[in-house]
Amino acid sequence: TIHALYERGLHLENKPFPIGVRIEHTQEFINQAMLGDFKDDPRLIPARYTLTTMTSNKKGVYTFCMCPGGYVIPSEAQEGQLVINGMSYASRSGENANSALLVQINEDDYGTELFAGEKYIEGLEKKAYRMTSDYKAPVQLAKDYLQGKVSQELEGVKPTYSLGYEFVDLNTLFSKAVNQSLHEALLDFEKKVPGFVTSGAILSAIESRSNPSLRLVRAKENRMSSIYGLYPCGEGSGYAGGIVSSAIDGIKSAYALMDHFGKENA
Ligand SMILES: Cc1cc2nc3c(=O)[nH]c(=O)nc-3n(C[C@H](O)[C@H](O)[C@H](O)COP(=O)(O)OP(=O)(O)OC[C@H]3O[C@@H](n4cnc5c(N)ncnc54)[C@H](O)[C@@H]3O)c2cc1C
Repeated sequence: TIHALYERGLHLENKPFPIGVRIEHTQEFINQAMLGDFKDDPRLIPARYTLTTMTSNKKGVYTFCMCPGGYVIPSEAQEGQLVINGMSYASRSGENANSALLVQINEDDYGTELFAGEKYIEGLEKKAYRMTSDYKAPVQLAKDYLQGKVSQELEGVKPTYSLGYEFVDLNTLFSKAVNQSLHEALLDFEKKVPGFVTSGAILSAIESRSNPSLRLVRAKENRMSSIYGLYPCGEGSGYAGGIVSSAIDGIKSAYALMDHFGKENA
């Protein structure tokens, strides 16, 4: 594990990372909002969106991994911790659209000690787990999240999360700064896409694994870590986010490795 490698001399550093929620709408609403009169045009695929904003407390908030016709899915790897993510099947024919809604977190939020970000995430995932029973998703209508009240009933958007859900107040999960950022972002996105909050949109928590809290330090000149022969690359090592940037980073490191060991053997 990363801890064992750290004990053996691997250099690590904290890095900013995002946490947040999944937001779900009906795909019909997203098609209407994005495509307008063309929403039923058979030549068009289910619509997507990307939204970003900078909040007054200087936090970037953005949508990520938008899944048209998709599902919110359980993604935990540890017992007693709750993690969600999103996906679409190739047909993208599900009733709902979902997207991560993420806030940038940095050392101001979790402290400067090494592994503090990891502990911060673990704490939130345990808290999210305790908010419901049996790995059900903690869910709240977006409009109720803005008002700090536990939702009483769904308003047209049914959660797709397969293990069930319970209504909670997500304001009690996140810190003041994260709540402020998510609130401001939702209000901004409602202005940009009318109905983004008020169309019955639901939030599920917690989206905490879209990018890691640590970076495995590597040398600029040859991309090698402080452990000889170990080449950190891709998402888990903190150098990429998503399929394409991870693949490109991996290819570059593979070339660096061949370059180094090729020369050494010659
Ligand atoms: C549900 C879900 C939906 C996503 N949707 C999108 C999307 O729509 N678009 C997008 O860009 N990104 C998406 N992502 C993120 C994307 O999957 C990652 O960014 C990407 O896979 C990272 O690539 P990687 O090569 O760095 O790591 P990985 O793809 O995780 O590859 C790491 C590999 O290492 C192997 N491995 C681990 N430990 C060991 C070991 N000890 N020995 C040998 N092998 C080991 C693993 O089995 C794995 O094959 C999604 C992720 C999830 C979980």
